[in-house]
Amino acid sequence: EARVALENARTEIGKTINAAPAEIIFTSGGTESINTAINGLAEKAGKGKNQIVTTKAEHQAVLETCAYLEKHGFEIRYASVDEFGKTSPEALAEVMTEQTALVAIMHANNEVATVNDLASLSEVAHKHGALFFTDAVQSYGKFPIGVKELGIDAMAFCAHKIYGPKGIGALYVKGGLLMEPLVHGGSQERNRRGGTESTGLAVGFQAAARAMQKNAKDILIRTARLKSYFTRALIDAIPGVIFNMHPADSLPHIINISFADAEKLDPEGIILGLDLKGIAVSNGAACTSGSLKPSHVLMAMGRSEHVAATSVRFSLGMNTTEEELDYTVKSLKEILTRMRG
Ligand code: PLP
Repeated sequence: EARVALENARTEIGKTINAAPAEIIFTSGGTESINTAINGLAEKAGKGKNQIVTTKAEHQAVLETCAYLEKHGFEIRYASVDEFGKTSPEALAEVMTEQTALVAIMHANNEVATVNDLASLSEVAHKHGALFFTDAVQSYGKFPIGVKELGIDAMAFCAHKIYGPKGIGALYVKGGLLMEPLVHGGSQERNRRGGTESTGLAVGFQAAARAMQKNAKDILIRTARLKSYFTRALIDAIPGVIFNMHPADSLPHIINISFADAEKLDPEGIILGLDLKGIAVSNGAACTSGSLKPSHVLMAMGRSEHVAATSVRFSLGMNTTEEELDYTVKSLKEILTRMRG
């Protein structure tokens, strides 16, 4: 029964991205899927293929895996991103060579919401004989992704971004591709990830994926409406507000803002001030050892250290209300007014 449940979950989750069940590997989450894909595919790359191409706006899971591989003989090349964090096919082509084994570029950016055009990027990768991997942790479930249609060779996604359980993710690897496992052990997951599978979490992931398939469109419409309500309210209430999301291609649930007078503002004061009012936001980068580091994504987009450090990232959920957004704008205005003296 457990085996049947696990395989049903694999089949249904695979279908959501137009993948066959054998192309889905269950992992512990987005980070493990990313590590497995980049390490596993790079290690099996042919002779002379010792380069990995990525961008400086990627999630830490991609950047740190690449940094690890750099210590083990790979050269990491970075394609540029524009002022919104987007990579164009031309920018990618500039850094590709015949030695590139793998391109790792995210679908949607978790800090600034910007969405990349995967079909055009994978085409460039393939033209140079490289594989194309994408981190779709943020975009999965927000809008349909067909791995075959978009030319994706490997893709990481997870359950907790679609209201599923934490601790489970999936990795799509195109049928027939050779991959070295990251977690060595038993022959589970067709020899691609050792260890006893978590049937319960896989079934939880399946339930979330099913609900998402049913409700995604409604959630998308509602969130997009809330996002435009919120951006309008911010423009009206906060002088000098600057939006960091791509104006056309961005996820509906993330709003990232900077301020024209960033030099006058105290980064910790904004985040902590909102926190004291019960509003949970981030400045993009993870807060380590109590000090706020400027976001590496905004820095990659060409923002100064101070602008990056004073930026604020808001994320909307399916239960967010207009009243909560009104309260957020009012609170932010109060904090900034106090800071601006
Ligand atoms: N990639 C992106 C774009 C993310 O937003 C996240 C998590 O927030 C991850 C990777 C890591 O995923 P996980 O937390 O499931 O390991």
